[in-house]
Amino acid sequence: MPSAFPSALLGSGRPMTLRGAGHSCDGQTVTDGELLVTYAPDTAAAQIRELGDGLVEVPAGISWYGLERYLNRRGRAVPVLTDYLHASVGGTLSVGGIGINSVRYGMQVDHVERIQLIDGTGTSRWCSRTDHPELFRFALGGLGTVGLIERAVLRTVPYCRDTHVHRTYHATPTELVEHTERIAQRNDVDVYCASLRRGKFFSTTGWSENGPRRCRDESCAIVPDLPFVGHPDTERPVSPSAGHVRLWTDYLVPAGQLAPMLAAVETLRHHAPLNGVLRMLYVLIVRRPPDTTSFAFTPIDSAPISIGLGVYTSVHGDPTTTAATQRVFRDLLERCCELGGRPYLYGVNNLDRALAERLYRNSLDQLAQVRAAHRLENVNAHLPLVRAALSI
Ligand SMILES: Cc1cc2nc3c(=O)[nH]c(=O)nc-3n(C[C@H](O)[C@H](O)[C@H](O)COP(=O)(O)OP(=O)(O)OC[C@H]3O[C@@H](n4cnc5c(N)ncnc54)[C@H](O)[C@@H]3O)c2cc1C
Repeated sequence: MPSAFPSALLGSGRPMTLRGAGHSCDGQTVTDGELLVTYAPDTAAAQIRELGDGLVEVPAGISWYGLERYLNRRGRAVPVLTDYLHASVGGTLSVGGIGINSVRYGMQVDHVERIQLIDGTGTSRWCSRTDHPELFRFALGGLGTVGLIERAVLRTVPYCRDTHVHRTYHATPTELVEHTERIAQRNDVDVYCASLRRGKFFSTTGWSENGPRRCRDESCAIVPDLPFVGHPDTERPVSPSAGHVRLWTDYLVPAGQLAPMLAAVETLRHHAPLNGVLRMLYVLIVRRPPDTTSFAFTPIDSAPISIGLGVYTSVHGDPTTTAATQRVFRDLLERCCELGGRPYLYGVNNLDRALAERLYRNSLDQLAQVRAAHRLENVNAHLPLVRAALSI
């Protein structure tokens, strides 16, 4: 793609929807109109630039899979990888990026040094914590509402091949909550996730190791290249089964609030419409690095330690069933907001002005101003976040 191409498209003023790999779950990248697609994993690796000091400049259309493979061969790694590596860097930075290493390193956006952003006039500028800081704060985690991320400069960490892993079974949700909250208060853990699948709660706790070293814990395992386990080299289909839609949502609450958030899900889990359609609950811990940026719309504002609860359903696509599930999600979102948390905007969230104001306060009006100042009225205008920002 010629480099002038996205600038020319955005500068044309035509209605435009931005898309990476298109894996977000609430129609964010669905349109009858024009799509500007950046995802180009096959050609992007040739455009990686190593800048020294562990910094790497990448095109937005590269996949995390391609980037991590490239870095590992050079003794470096991405600090935080998500569960699915064939999404685009630009698309994930536009939502936040959380994974099993977030217990150590926070969100992916916490490790962005700067981004090259194209606005609605076609102007491209580098934005960082010091240059155009407002655009930086709104673009990362901002669903493409303040322009197209064309390139990003990311911080990397030394590559460590092995992870020392313990897998724990929890007999009750209370046990899982207590275990998770205890891990959230420790600062010696490098990997954490927990899940409910087929009625069973399990957690995985891990430590980066420079060489195999088993301990006496009977669940102990040394896992090489953990982020790639079960991961195909090429993109696997992630579409739901025929006739179904994937309704996923994640709530991030401050540490200490997992119990009431999980309780809200538990009271609904065994009743319609969630029973039978809930595929998995997924728990992650996110510890933000010190002196990090308070991004406008990421799933975490300023809380130093948060816990994410993902609710993943596969629902028959008829309007009545999907609407019923969305109503349940709306109730859960209200609870998340009461608990001082935020939703993860890649997922299904029924945002209106009143709720968005409670969640994002002044950022909502600032978003409307930034979009007007940078002629972005026609870019991603269908998003509920944009509609909430524009309605009074
Ligand atoms: C199977 C699966 C597993 C997942 N696991 C995780 C997980 O473990 N952790 C996690 O954090 N997330 C996870 N996600 C969510 C995923 O990170 C988001 O859906 C992410 O947005 C996917 O990137 P994408 O390239 O598909 O983005 P898209 O869906 O294409 O875009 C997402 C949003 O960003 C905008 N956008 C896209 N590219 C750009 C750009 N270059 N500049 C500006 N705006 C842009 C789009 O308009 C849209 O609003 C998972 C999703 C799936 C399907």
